[in-house]
Amino acid sequence: MISQHSSTEIAVLMSGGLDSSILVGKFLREGRTVHPIYIRTGLFWQSGELPAVQAFLAAIATANLRPLKILELPLDDLYTDHWSLTGSGTPADDTPDEAVYLPGRNALLLVKAAVYCQLHGIGQLACAPLGSSPFEDASSEFFTEYQSAMNRGSSSPVVLLRPFGELHKEEVMRLGVGLPLELTFSCIHPVDGTHCGTCNKCFERKEAFRITGIEDKTVYTASRRTAVQVATKSTP
Ligand SMILES: [Zn+2]
Repeated sequence: MISQHSSTEIAVLMSGGLDSSILVGKFLREGRTVHPIYIRTGLFWQSGELPAVQAFLAAIATANLRPLKILELPLDDLYTDHWSLTGSGTPADDTPDEAVYLPGRNALLLVKAAVYCQLHGIGQLACAPLGSSPFEDASSEFFTEYQSAMNRGSSSPVVLLRPFGELHKEEVMRLGVGLPLELTFSCIHPVDGTHCGTCNKCFERKEAFRITGIEDKTVYTASRRTAVQVATKSTP
């Protein structure tokens, strides 16, 4: 059942956001064969996220980019009335990073992706948490311990990597120069599949572009509404 791949092959857990998308681009530039993985959880922002993953991958596709693997992990029975599922009470742009913590997020996503890698002989699995992440399940210690637990009893061990684990947003953004970053998706409260412009993650996204001076071509619904309102008011 387990197939064998070469050591240049690596799987990347993608969310469609800036960091994981840039991580895929980085590995392709390095000549690695990349297996992108997206976990379909059914959370509120998936309607914007999955199309973004597909569009970004289509735009950067090379012979070394393997087809997107979508794994199902519905979380509606677990998160029930949580804002991540209902879209009600979504942390706004003035909330701290800690406000967007999702219980067990990395443990949940990693278990399915890691077993997929084990079953397909892909020796490395990378995720894109940053050094500035405040969450314990994004830490080096968590990844080391989780890797150890995941590989117990497996004849095809997988190494869990967090290549951006010591980097800050600005450094990661610079690695993304030249990639179609406008196709990535960061919002946790999308409106008709586009960035809301007012949530915690939209704020982080705007800041990422602002601090690096990279043009932000993202369409934000809030600014679009404002523009429409202004245009309407100025009409005689
Ligand atoms: Zn948003």
